[in-house]
Amino acid sequence: MNKPIDRNYFKKKNNPRSKKGPRFTKCCGQDKDLDNLNVNYSEDWKLIENHIERHLREYTKHISVTPVSCEQCGIFLEYVTEIDIDKTLGFYEKAD
Ligand SMILES: [Zn+2]
Repeated sequence: MNKPIDRNYFKKKNNPRSKKGPRFTKCCGQDKDLDNLNVNYSEDWKLIENHIERHLREYTKHISVTPVSCEQCGIFLEYVTEIDIDKTLGFYEKAD
């Protein structure tokens, strides 16, 4: 009431998880303004699971996918894929 409403107002409104303070997390240096997945949130974890499930179905030579996240805040950082090298070599032989 009686306050100007600017872009930050909507940024906060649309992203209720973002907190006041520095823009980047101290633990892993991630930009808090970005809509990072967080393994501590069950709905985000489901998205990560779905991604891995699709990935493993699509890439049959890939043995496993590790969702790497920050141990302090749980922000998802990257997928690390374990690849079956023997099968991959076989694949390239066939491709020739
Ligand atoms: Zn972190």
